[in-house]
Amino acid sequence: MQEEPLPLRMTIQAVAFAAGKHRHQRRKDADASPYINHPIALAEVLSVEANISDATVLCAALLHDTIEDTETTVDELRDLFGDAVTAIVVAVSDDKSLPKETRKALQIAHAAALSHPAKLVKLADKICNLRDLLNAPPADWTAERKLAYFQWAEAVVAGLRGTHAGLEAILDDLLARADRLR
Ligand code: NDP
Ligand code: ZN
Repeated sequence: MQEEPLPLRMTIQAVAFAAGKHRHQRRKDADASPYINHPIALAEVLSVEANISDATVLCAALLHDTIEDTETTVDELRDLFGDAVTAIVVAVSDDKSLPKETRKALQIAHAAALSHPAKLVKLADKICNLRDLLNAPPADWTAERKLAYFQWAEAVVAGLRGTHAGLEAILDDLLARADRLR
């Protein structure tokens, strides 16, 4: 049997790697959904909704929370997925040693200087998190907290504009639904 092309192999490897790293984690929704659903949702947005076929971007989406939220090291990612994927994941990872409010301010300040592929992953991350807040929000969040998150996300997205019209249109639709937050 013929071998799969390299990009598809790397993408499957990224799903499997992220699934292993996030295996004990859950999202904050009432059902405590498996965490891996979120990185897979980013890859689905980029592939299916935005028609992006670049495996470097799709792998970075699948791996985007491994450095921030698991014990994964930069060297580990570089060995398995190479410099391009690793650079994107590093660029979209918050420095967890900083206070939360600082991290949130830095996301706004740094958005415009991100590389094009990092901006694509960041746009998809915000799409998925806003959808979660509308459809499967953290059980204990008030409407005010969800709205504050929407407003912060809008400020981050302002720095990501001019990257992908389709993704930005999806975000605009979501941001326009902030008044439906309960
Ligand atoms: P958090 O950073 O605490 O939580 C949001 C993050 O959780 C997302 O970015 C996402 O990150 C992850 N996540 C996991 N599950 C879900 C889910 N089901 N739906 C959405 N996100 C999920 O939020 P903030 O601190 O930003 O809180 C929002 C606002 O509320 C802020 O503006 C803050 O100032 C304010 N605030 C209010 C508090 C209160 O009312 N008690 C306390 C603290 C803040 P990822 O993509 O990495 O998974
Ligand atoms: Zn994320």
